[in-house]
Amino acid sequence: MSLEQKDSIIFSALQEEMQRQKLGLEMIASENYVSSEVLEAQGSIFTNKYAEGYPGKRYYGGCTNVDTIENVGRDRLKELFSCDHANIQPHSGSSANMAVYFAVLKPQDTILGMDLSQGGHLTHGSPVNFSGFIFQSKFYGVDEKTNLIDYNKLEDLAKQYKPKLLIAGHSAYPRFLDFEKFKTIADQVGCPLMVDMAHFSGLVAGVVHPSPIPYADLVTSTTHKTLRGPRGGFILCKKEWAKKVDSKVFPGMQGGPLPHVMMAKAVAFKEALEPSYKIYAQQIVKNAKYLSEQLIQRGFNLVTGGTDNHLILINLNNKNLNGKEAEDILHQAGITVNKNTVPGETRSPFVTSGIRIGTPALTTRGMKEKEMGRIAEWMSQVIENRNNEKKILNIKGEVKKLCSQFPLFHVEK
Ligand SMILES: *Cc1c(COP(=O)(O)O)cnc(C)c1O
Repeated sequence: MSLEQKDSIIFSALQEEMQRQKLGLEMIASENYVSSEVLEAQGSIFTNKYAEGYPGKRYYGGCTNVDTIENVGRDRLKELFSCDHANIQPHSGSSANMAVYFAVLKPQDTILGMDLSQGGHLTHGSPVNFSGFIFQSKFYGVDEKTNLIDYNKLEDLAKQYKPKLLIAGHSAYPRFLDFEKFKTIADQVGCPLMVDMAHFSGLVAGVVHPSPIPYADLVTSTTHKTLRGPRGGFILCKKEWAKKVDSKVFPGMQGGPLPHVMMAKAVAFKEALEPSYKIYAQQIVKNAKYLSEQLIQRGFNLVTGGTDNHLILINLNNKNLNGKEAEDILHQAGITVNKNTVPGETRSPFVTSGIRIGTPALTTRGMKEKEMGRIAEWMSQVIENRNNEKKILNIKGEVKKLCSQFPLFHVEK
């Protein structure tokens, strides 16, 4: 019996989600569309298997095939980022970070990470997150004028707080990070450097973003953002950290891995090793840069004045609406973005003064500069005409038309 007949409420939510993903412009910077092969792997019968432990050292029988996919996945990942050691078991970006913290730190140790409201991530020490309850968290941020990371201030804070771990990485910072500077600062205070490349790992893989590997002692990432794999995480590290990291992922923090997800990760890593992936990564950045220029021409105030990567942060104060209002009104026109705090934020995280947008998902659909120009114009029109229902509906129609010209599973010929 099919799911449709057995469980109609769940089935219809899936159908509606399919339509939503097909007919809307997905501009959330942390989202993407996986290939049909990644989807096939993630939906596979590997979900039935327990495989606690690591290849060759499992706590369950029948793991030969899981060993193959985990070994292949780890090897591909090491090749992709040219690193010593890889662990592909973390269930998410957050659990990858947790495992690294447990490998490096003791409870109450001090960590120094980027302030969440200035572009950092919850798991970098926010008081509402485990990283903030277990460790003493201190934060660095951006310069008030330039909105760029203030490395001098960061150095002073590191010397003042003497963290046991320095964390670089962001979820809303539109510029490259200076990994060499981060490493110099970590060395000055004698602590390891962790780089959380969750957002930009796909750009590193595509060689359009500096790689943290030569500088960082430990690197964490998600697999589902720019990297375009299944939802999940991984850890890369230098040899000396390998044993500790592996033992903190399992048995330190997780039980069995998700073999179907590890399989999908391995498939995604193969895709990222192909020459076409470099072209994809280049186009993500070209699209983001072009979209930035087009938005600036329409009077939008971009934090730092543009972008180096896949994401754009817009401060909406000059447009007389807040982030939540912008998110809602753009949604009515079929454009999905998220409200986001901006440096110097005065509103609550539920309202915010900005929005964050990104180009990874649109680029996967095959959209290029020409489409970015049209999208910038629609965004501007929607915001300028936010009380004109007819206009918004009109644009929604245009958005649908554009999306139908860029089918979702273009890989499924
Ligand atoms: C998205 C993100 C994470 C968390 O990933 P989840 O898979 O949602 O747990 C961690 N760090 C950074 C910098 C991120 O952007």
